[in-house]
Amino acid sequence: MLFTRDLRVHDNPALSASVSAFDRVLPLFVHNPALASGANRARFLTGALDDLRSALQSRGGDLAELRGDPVDEAIRAAKAVDASAIAIAADVSGYARARETRLAEACAAARLAFKTFPGVTVVPPAAVRPGGGGSHYKVFTPYYRSWEAFSRRDVLGAPRKVALPDDVPKSWLSSAVGNLGETSGRKQLSSWLADVAAYDENHDNMAADRTSRLSPYLHFGCLSPREVVERAQGQEGAEPFIRQLCWRDFYHQVLSAFPDLRRKPYRASAVEEWRDEKDALQAWQEGHTGMPIVDAGMRQLLAEGWMHNRARLITASYLTKHLNVDWRAGGDHFFDLLLDGDVANNYGNWQWVAGTGNDTKPYRRFSPLRQAERFDPTGDYVRRYVPELAHIPGKAIHQPWELPAPERRGYPALLK
Ligand code: FAD
Repeated sequence: MLFTRDLRVHDNPALSASVSAFDRVLPLFVHNPALASGANRARFLTGALDDLRSALQSRGGDLAELRGDPVDEAIRAAKAVDASAIAIAADVSGYARARETRLAEACAAARLAFKTFPGVTVVPPAAVRPGGGGSHYKVFTPYYRSWEAFSRRDVLGAPRKVALPDDVPKSWLSSAVGNLGETSGRKQLSSWLADVAAYDENHDNMAADRTSRLSPYLHFGCLSPREVVERAQGQEGAEPFIRQLCWRDFYHQVLSAFPDLRRKPYRASAVEEWRDEKDALQAWQEGHTGMPIVDAGMRQLLAEGWMHNRARLITASYLTKHLNVDWRAGGDHFFDLLLDGDVANNYGNWQWVAGTGNDTKPYRRFSPLRQAERFDPTGDYVRRYVPELAHIPGKAIHQPWELPAPERRGYPALLK
């Protein structure tokens, strides 16, 4: 069973099916040096793998880790333990799909059975389609309606026992144990669900910081999105939160149908006229634009590898619609640093904000000042991340500020 970004034992269809179909299963993860992911995500991945290893060990199994091309290594491992089949979770990015196709071919050549399983999203991409024969939904609200009505697979428990094949080379196994991935994700989910009723009221309050913070766990599959929805569904006031999880599925089905989401405008008719402004981009990246709410968001990203959703909207809109810098540059910066950096969600949202994507109002532009006054009314979010301004009382803190000369780069107060 080849793990990719389904790093969990609970509700993992590929793992459960493997364990029930075969007496012996080799859980395998392949580190691909050619696949660059930011340093923040690399650290999270290590923790998630350590945790997965202990969960598998406590069930009598283990996690084999190899380095190299995932297809070559999976075939090599399968031959070494005399496996008869390989299982993997289906996924949507261009990279994941190319891997899946190559793995299917390599399995056929090596006379191994090969099967993909759901689990990365609540509803598999392409499982719900618009009437009239389109490949996917282009607009969120009708997608949400079909998504809600779709009959979902059962949530699976964790397998009780995982028996390894004989003779797994010791060098494939590591002794590190941890509890950062699935274990802390499940704890976080349980405590979050106790708070979910307040989500609607608080999720846009930037200083309160009361969203679930489940995104990295969902990105790495330490939590099953299907199970998260199932558990939330019984709770009062959970609907707005479940709707956000539907956005995640929505962008996954968009990426599945439009693999170039990372580079090409989704809307063919989008007008793209970006300025090649290195100074503006750098000032934005460093949190030195002179617009306090923007600078606070960008500094949260630098400090924590995470940013509040409202700040993501404001900073992305500021880069693309005020500074007129290309969404790809902004998306790449986010992707590099975000702990939850995810091709579908990141570039799907960037294109939405830039007006090249799925927004039905592509010319909308957020006023950073109005957004700040509305969603950070006390100024505490800015105060937390821009210490230079912390002495300014109340919402006066949101007024554009003059940066010290070396950092100004010609971009103090910009348009409101
Ligand atoms: P909650 O508000 O608690 O939401 C629960 C879950 O729903 C999230 O964990 C996430 O999986 C999903 N979700 C929420 N909002 C969205 C959304 N707008 N689109 C898709 N899924 C959503 N999310 C990522 O997971 N990875 C990214 O790389 C990413 N990049 C973004 C870039 C921009 C410019 C914008 C505007 C948004 C981006 N988002 C991304 C979406 C959203 O900001 C994060 O999912 C959210 O802030 C994560 O915090 P949370 O888990 O506390 O969210």
